[in-house]
Amino acid sequence: MSGREQGYIERAFESNWLAPLGPNVDLFERKIAERTGSKHVAVFNSGTSAIHLALQVLGVGPGDLVLCQSLTFAASANPVVYLGATPVFVDSESDSWNMDPEMLEQAILSCMDDRMVASQSGEVIPTRKPKAIIPVHIYGMPAKMDQIMAISKKYGIPVIEDAAEALGSSYNGKQCGTWGDIGIVSFNGNKIITTTAGGAMLSNNSAWIEKAKHLGTQAREDYPYYQHSEIGYNYRMSNVLAGMGCGQIEVLGDRIVARRNNYEFYASQLSDIPGIRFQPEIAGNISNRWLTCILVDSERTGGVSAEDLRAALAKENIESRPLWKPMHLQPVYSFAPYFGSGVSDDLFARGLCLPSGSDLTEADLIRIVQVIRRVLGV
Ligand SMILES: *Cc1c(COP(=O)(O)O)cnc(C)c1O
Repeated sequence: MSGREQGYIERAFESNWLAPLGPNVDLFERKIAERTGSKHVAVFNSGTSAIHLALQVLGVGPGDLVLCQSLTFAASANPVVYLGATPVFVDSESDSWNMDPEMLEQAILSCMDDRMVASQSGEVIPTRKPKAIIPVHIYGMPAKMDQIMAISKKYGIPVIEDAAEALGSSYNGKQCGTWGDIGIVSFNGNKIITTTAGGAMLSNNSAWIEKAKHLGTQAREDYPYYQHSEIGYNYRMSNVLAGMGCGQIEVLGDRIVARRNNYEFYASQLSDIPGIRFQPEIAGNISNRWLTCILVDSERTGGVSAEDLRAALAKENIESRPLWKPMHLQPVYSFAPYFGSGVSDDLFARGLCLPSGSDLTEADLIRIVQVIRRVLGV
């Protein structure tokens, strides 16, 4: 927390606005719109619920197919299954580690024409035109949104842009979360700014945002009594937590500087080591560097693997983690088709997320780098 949150939270208490609506909710939505340049914003109680509502706004239902980046957190794909639809997983490219536009097009063509088979279970999936594309900006790194949007337009399939990890990142000067037909961000406790739990939906289509707010408020209609013509959800954000968000978004710029400084420090100390590579940033883009991630090529490090580094750091009470395990490798998604050439499998096998908190001190960073250099013998 920055200290700025308390004032907004106190106002919620003083005015007794202790509901999933109120002045802080409205203000937080305006502040997100101003910061990102999105015309319309609605806040919800998680990024996952925002994705769930986005899929419904686009009419995704039972039997539908939805294309989704495989290298991601399960929350990108799970809401597809909540709706009885099937995710079709797409591999990453190695330039940004995000959805490979060529694989995306191949997947779309297969969904529309070919026999399509689940990657692990071998089940035959009925083919049809997919209903949505979910690219992700993994660890804050922008995906190739110009190419992905061009494919989306070519085939008339809308994009739900999962910018849960990428608030404040930009691609070709345009903020992540504002490229897709609908964008999603998260304010979960682990994200670059937080409301403990929370998320938002961004779109220039006001009807979609209004529809999502309606569904997220139990689809309650405007009558003196409670009337519902649709099944809704209790998904809006608390006015108290939105107060926290109002304070947090004021320090988003500082948080990005802190995260990028972590990356710059690690890169200055480690990028000369053979076999160590950082997640690349395509020229002209800005990643918020939510997490700093490396690839370890044990053939060039004298046999030291990412797992060896993780174990050595853990011994010094320093937490690091493997990259997200791709969805096409997850037991729960054995029924889902996958299009790829092994890029995300390789990233998972060789990747490591380094400690990346906004409050890391230089002494912390030096200690982390010393352990890594010691294990690598350099
Ligand atoms: C965190 C995250 C989400 C979900 O957000 P929650 O607010 O935790 O529900 C979705 N996608 C990705 C890539 C995430 O990292």
